[in-house]
Amino acid sequence: MNKKKNIRVLVVDDDKFMLEFVSLLLRELGVSEVLVAEDGKEGLFVLSAQITTVDLLICDIEMPGMDGIEFLRNIADQKYSGKIVLFSGVDSDLLKATERLAIARGLHVIGTLAKPVTVGALASILEKLSLPIRRMIDPSTIKQIFDVEEIKQALTADHIDIFFQPKIAASSRRVTGVECLARWRHAQYGYVSPDNFISIIEQSGLINDFTRNVLKKSTQQLDLWLQQGLDLKISVNVSMENLDRFNLPEIYQEAVQDSNVPIDRVTLEITEGKLGKDFAQSLDILTRIRLKGFGLSIDDFGTGYASMETLKYMPFTELKIDRIFAHGAAEDLSTRLILESSIKLGKAFGLNVVVEGIETEADCELVAELGCDEIQGYFIAKPMLANEFIQWLSNYEKNNTDHRKYR
Ligand code: C2E
Ligand code: CA
Ligand code: CA
Repeated sequence: MNKKKNIRVLVVDDDKFMLEFVSLLLRELGVSEVLVAEDGKEGLFVLSAQITTVDLLICDIEMPGMDGIEFLRNIADQKYSGKIVLFSGVDSDLLKATERLAIARGLHVIGTLAKPVTVGALASILEKLSLPIRRMIDPSTIKQIFDVEEIKQALTADHIDIFFQPKIAASSRRVTGVECLARWRHAQYGYVSPDNFISIIEQSGLINDFTRNVLKKSTQQLDLWLQQGLDLKISVNVSMENLDRFNLPEIYQEAVQDSNVPIDRVTLEITEGKLGKDFAQSLDILTRIRLKGFGLSIDDFGTGYASMETLKYMPFTELKIDRIFAHGAAEDLSTRLILESSIKLGKAFGLNVVVEGIETEADCELVAELGCDEIQGYFIAKPMLANEFIQWLSNYEKNNTDHRKYR
């Protein structure tokens, strides 16, 4: 039975693979006609030829030549009236800013899609077009960038390694701890960043096993370091998709208790954005996580919506200011003002304030002056494997001590 929907979709992206991949998914979901354009100019050409009949435009915002923002400005001038979905591999906050800009120009944005694109995400976009969508998809016809099976195998075969990125105290510049960041050791692609696979793990219901695994490996590593006399703490990222089970505090506690690590040396980082989904439930779980003795950090602070509410009600111990407010703050007044007030706010609530994404000496000096407690970023060091971290630490400590001697 052919349930193809009588709609036309235009996909604009400079990445030929993405064009092919998204077109394939759209066809699988029953879209009758998919047009493609490899850059903004070509997109404008296609649109101007058929401006009344393109129902949905899926547009990448990062393109060489005419980027997505210029492209949107142009189609707004041409009074394009179809629906738009923005699409990008850049930070979600940049994607949101572009969405607000497009809406302010009178365009009808119905959603954003983060890369890698999944069938589920595309299907929910098509649902917003109020058209029936074909639910049954033959999985064998869909080539995901990474599919669930491949990730499952990677988890079973233990192909997930932990990288450690140091954090230093702003005042003494001593290393206080590390953020533990998962990487997939992929036979073909080398180390793959979690941005490319965490969402697939979340969607496939494997995220609790994954978090437990990361937590376990990270605490085992900390256990070894503590035995070697290193005074360190760790921070581990917890997906918001995790926060739907009342026994999570016990699951996390168990993962840590397999080692001799005191639980208060472990901080769980939670991205602020989605906390409000079920407020009472999140509050219940987070409070019990705190009761077990874990530290709790609001990650990517400033990029979500419920900042004040979150600070007021949730039992956080740490505020981690997102890198978009740290990067270039020494040069840009408005970035600096946001950074300064976020640090003040965190301190007023008695939280440990961490600024991440520090890439230059000037930004590092600035955030220390503004009173944050800890600093993380490429300027200090990139995430590293455990043995590299130990090597780095001994060099760093030597230089830092020498540096302080001559101050
Ligand atoms: P995040 O928690 O915000 O982690 C910081 C990310 O910023 C890391 O990317 C890190 O490599 C990168 N970064 C650190 N310093 C700098 C800097 O100075 N400049 C720039 N431009 N970037 C910097 P990574 O490792 O690719 O991780 C991406 C995200 O994936 C993390 O963002 C975190 O949300 C998530 N993630 C990582 N590991 C896990 C995990 O075990 N579980 C879950 N649920 N999520 C994880
Ligand atoms: Ca984090
Ligand atoms: Ca972060």
